[in-house]
Amino acid sequence: MTTLEKNKTYRPEIVRIGERMYWVQSATDRDQRYFVDLHDGTCECVGFAKRGGCWHLTEARKIEDEREAAARTFDRRPARPSGMAALIEAFEPSGFATGDYPF
Ligand SMILES: [Zn+2]
Repeated sequence: MTTLEKNKTYRPEIVRIGERMYWVQSATDRDQRYFVDLHDGTCECVGFAKRGGCWHLTEARKIEDEREAAARTFDRRPARPSGMAALIEAFEPSGFATGDYPF
């Protein structure tokens, strides 16, 4: 009751500490955090030990999936020059060689 009240605004912190590795704060005890390793799909909490799954792992996976999705979106963008690439292309000396123009 009071615990729920107290936890209403509390959001566990999830910290990416390495390639597919996370610290996930406990949802009930903010002094507690668990190491989640997505290579093995493991979490060090009691719930994982008992059930072979827990929300720490689920949350970390969700974030990792979003990271991967974002990376894929970035890769799939059309190869149209923009920003720095456009600037470089605009100032590329060979682009201004007179021989390149049909007149
Ligand atoms: Zn866990």
